[in-house]
Amino acid sequence: MKGISGETKNLGVIGWPIVHSLSPAMQAAAIRAAGIDYAYIAMPVHPEALTQAVAGLRSLGFRGFNVTIPHKTAIIECLDKIDEDARRIGAVNTVVIEDGRLSGHNTDVTGFLRGLSRQGMTVRGKRAALFGAGGAARAVIWGLAKEGAERITVGVRDEMKARAALADLASVVNLEVFSWEDTAFRDALKNAALLVNSTPLGMTPKLEAIPPVDWNLVQPSAFVYDIIYTPARTRFLQEAEARGHRVLNGTSMLVGQGAEALALWTGIQPDEAAMERALLDALAGKREADRA
Ligand code: NAP
Repeated sequence: MKGISGETKNLGVIGWPIVHSLSPAMQAAAIRAAGIDYAYIAMPVHPEALTQAVAGLRSLGFRGFNVTIPHKTAIIECLDKIDEDARRIGAVNTVVIEDGRLSGHNTDVTGFLRGLSRQGMTVRGKRAALFGAGGAARAVIWGLAKEGAERITVGVRDEMKARAALADLASVVNLEVFSWEDTAFRDALKNAALLVNSTPLGMTPKLEAIPPVDWNLVQPSAFVYDIIYTPARTRFLQEAEARGHRVLNGTSMLVGQGAEALALWTGIQPDEAAMERALLDALAGKREADRA
């Protein structure tokens, strides 16, 4: 493989902190597999330095960059335009720089949907029940709406807060929000062809946590998707699997959002299997380091 040269085009990810980002490992694997002349690095950017850092990346001729916590919303002010997914979600995770102009995208939508389509799961005309109403939930809701889901019902611990947070999406999508204790949400569980967890409940290290689901209400044919990727099988997915449901974790969403970002920057269709292997290796390395 060719090393870095004066012709190498630069990519990266900005966040604060950024040391735990899995994107450099995934993107480096995709770049290697494609044999393209790009480099991808992690760049710590303090919130107060965001505008300056973005101007710097533009001046340095970066081809683009990913954006992670805490900059996903604040970055919008620094951009020349954003696409519809980013506008609906209110967050940008990918910036493309073309002729000095910055465009913002949100590839979580594509990543989430790619996981479903790989499993042969279609949502058109079907109902979905979703736990959680945070940033990731917005990408899930918008993705499901774009794919033609008939109705999306969100269950949360704080109904008032979630209704306020999702009011803009509810005005354009067939969306309802209830406390997950509410009978209306329990009814939605009965009618859902797809259940999605978009809360952090069950994520490492709190492995015992689980969103409140009464499996007796859920149709046996329902597809169960947890967008968490550590651990690979949350308690939510383990219980679903034990009841015979088809299940999916968040790995394919994470790989899919990264692949879509690289496609936007380079025009290639990345090798997602290579990206997934690199991601799983990086996660295994993290577990080793945590145990040491
Ligand atoms: P977020 O913005 O903080 O939202 C989390 C949501 O879960 C909120 O509705 C929050 O409710 C709820 N929640 C949090 N802790 C809870 C608890 N103890 N009990 C009940 N509800 C709780 O987070 P996010 O960015 O949406 O991320 C959510 C999860 O998705 C994380 O596990 C993250 O790792 C995963 N994720 C995966 C991918 C992927 O590519 N696979 C991408 C993005 C995110 P309140 O508003 O009441 O706090």
